Amino acid sequence: MTQKIIAIDGPAGSGKSTVARALASALGWAFLDTGAMYRAVTCEALDQGVDVNDQRAVAALAASLRLTTLPRVTVNGRDVEEEIRTDRVNAAVSVVAANALVRATMVARQRQWAAEQPLGTVVEGRDTTTVVFPEATLKVFLTASLEERARRRGDEGEASVARRDEADTNRNASPLRQADDALVLDTTGRAVDEVVGEIITCLTNLHSN
Ligand code: C5P
Repeated sequence: MTQKIIAIDGPAGSGKSTVARALASALGWAFLDTGAMYRAVTCEALDQGVDVNDQRAVAALAASLRLTTLPRVTVNGRDVEEEIRTDRVNAAVSVVAANALVRATMVARQRQWAAEQPLGTVVEGRDTTTVVFPEATLKVFLTASLEERARRRGDEGEASVARRDEADTNRNASPLRQADDALVLDTTGRAVDEVVGEIITCLTNLHSN
């Protein structure tokens, strides 16, 4: 595989987005937030009144959408950057993300998008190390205590974060799982720069070996 990919997995609030963004910026690579894609599909389904439990309807909707995640999250050209972080989306996104048909569409788009990036891609999300890019140059699994993860998620609260973890871990389609060969980092009480530095050291060591 010639594509350079760093895939970052981990539960809600483990620091995936923050660390992945900072890492992509430090390396000058592209950044892909896969959670934003599932959130955008959820948002559009709710806005169009599509029942999120109707797997075929949501899958058909997902396949038809034009999505961007950067510089803003948009669906068919509509900016949903703020809307995708609201409570109603938090409450429904795990159902949409458990839909295997939706996942197939999203995974294909993620691979295609990464293949088009000239330098490399830092990609973050629940199944990126295990399903989307099992051959990634480097796989990282971030963890942190539930207390700290809930604190980072602000208004969402410990109960909602724990509920999403539970749903993401126990679903059949691509459950949250640590890849065997992932670099596991506990980010509790650690600065972003420190975690990013550790990942870059690991990447450098890979290249020199
Ligand atoms: O990372 P974030 O909290 O934005 O992800 C929102 C939800 O999207 C997660 O709770 C999970 O259900 C789903 N997700 C997923 N696979 C990914 C990324 C996110 O199932 N690769």
